[in-house]
Amino acid sequence: DQTVYETLKERLKEIFGFSQFRGDQEAIIHSILSGRNTFVIMPTGAGKSLCYQLPAIVNDGTAIVISPLIALMKNQVDQLNAFGINAQFLNSTLSKTEMNKVKKDTLNGSLKLLYIAPESLTKEENLDFLKKANISFVAIDEAHCISEWGHDFRPEYRKIRGIVDNIGNLPVIALTATATPKVQLDIQKNLQMEEANLYKTSFNRKNLYYEIKPKVDAKKQLIKYIKQNKGKSGIVYCLSRKTVEEIAELLRVNDVRALPYHAGLDPQTRMANQDAFLNEDADVICATIAFGMGIDKPDVRFVIHYDAPKSLEGYYQETGRAGRDGLEGNCIMFYSYDDIVKLEKFNKDKPVTERDNARHLLTEMVSYANLGTCRRRQLLGYFGEYLDKDCGFCDNCLKPTEKIKVQQEVVLALRT
Ligand code: ADP
Ligand code: MG
Repeated sequence: DQTVYETLKERLKEIFGFSQFRGDQEAIIHSILSGRNTFVIMPTGAGKSLCYQLPAIVNDGTAIVISPLIALMKNQVDQLNAFGINAQFLNSTLSKTEMNKVKKDTLNGSLKLLYIAPESLTKEENLDFLKKANISFVAIDEAHCISEWGHDFRPEYRKIRGIVDNIGNLPVIALTATATPKVQLDIQKNLQMEEANLYKTSFNRKNLYYEIKPKVDAKKQLIKYIKQNKGKSGIVYCLSRKTVEEIAELLRVNDVRALPYHAGLDPQTRMANQDAFLNEDADVICATIAFGMGIDKPDVRFVIHYDAPKSLEGYYQETGRAGRDGLEGNCIMFYSYDDIVKLEKFNKDKPVTERDNARHLLTEMVSYANLGTCRRRQLLGYFGEYLDKDCGFCDNCLKPTEKIKVQQEVVLALRT
């Protein structure tokens, strides 16, 4: 086994240029290479992609990687190609010629990773050729999309198990950055992976400071905070495209290098604004939640929720983009009852189950925002992790208003 370890480490260095595995990466890779079903729950930025990329490369045949977004697939394919690895994606944007190349490379075994959206996987013609191919294993990225209790449910994801069984008897590795215990169970059940090797690392981001501020004079507060942090990189999340534009403009007239990002912008502008933020030509990006998936900027110093998020899953992922380098990361949410009413309105027109779930997610978020005790303890608890003492690094730990009130009462009592 020692030689396998050595080989993996050599390939890690050779292909990816990393000299060390991070966290459980090596154990996870061994698990999937030994043919075991494997379930990985690690925070964003932990390095989940490598957990299927490297075994795909060292294995014979082609690994199927299921991913929900074309942009995510493209990112990874481009990166792997730049490393000299044959990786391609299969989706509806391909021409006939490109499609044939993908099929040819899969069938002759030269393709190491085949990225595919679940929608394409269900197509008969794709299934037929995959049955003939030598598939090493199946990776399901963003596996929380399987669960309707999660925050990003995709019905097509629930069909994956059946399709995989149709292709062959293949080991599966499922990966996600957010799963409450309930969602985790739902995923494992749906994938028939109750017996899988489970790798779950702590969700605790010790360098992130969590603070909730009442949404009073929020614009003034926002400008003041950003001016005090001039030159630092930050993200301001807003609920609507309109607010994104408004806040970006407000910051610009206040001499902040800020740009908007939302799905309503034309693709070139969106790309250009994202690049400007990544290349430090802009300090602040004002964005809807469309911004951030798969974006890897290590020195984001603050993430501000100008409007309250829809769920703690979303909140955790979005705040998680701060301080990836392990240094300072301030997470500030402006919170008002009006925002919750607005979010509730969005839910009203949804089908019943979806609406009930959205309400449940929102309720959890509200109770977090209204909390008087350690934020981190509550947040981690939500994801099934127990913190045995208060974190000492959130607003409630550092500015315990309740305690101050009690102390003041004590002082008053002593005086009289
Ligand atoms: P996740 O999918 O868990 O959010 P990614 O797979 O996108 O994370 O990886 C996040 C970053 O970590 C990437 O820039 C990746 O290159 C880097 N990374 C992954 N593994 C290692 C490692 N062993 N050493 C150093 N950097 C790593
Ligand atoms: Mg990922």
